[in-house]
Amino acid sequence: MSAPTRPAASRLTQAPTSDDVVVVTIDRTRCTGHGICAALLPGRMQLDEWGYPIFPERNSGRFERVDAARATSYCPTRALSAAYRG
Ligand code: SF4
Repeated sequence: MSAPTRPAASRLTQAPTSDDVVVVTIDRTRCTGHGICAALLPGRMQLDEWGYPIFPERNSGRFERVDAARATSYCPTRALSAAYRG
C-alpha cells in the first residue's frame, strides 16, 4: 500500500475570492483525532472533549476555499473533504 500523496502546491495557492466558500465534511471513520485541522484553523474548527474535530455552530463547516484546502491537505488520514454547495 502506498502512502497518500499531498495535492499539488498549485491547488493550495489558487487565489480565492471573498465569496469562495466551500463546505468541509469530516469522515469520522477515518479521523483519528490528530487535531491538526483545529490547529490550522483555530476558532473555526475545535476539538471535542475526546480530541475529535467539531465545527462551531456559527460556521457549520463553511470555510473559505483556501482555508479548506489547507486543512484537507494536511489531514494525515484524509478524513476531511471540501465541496461546493449551492
Ligand atoms: S487533522 Fe484529520 S485526523 Fe486529525 S483531527 Fe482533523 S480530521 Fe481528524
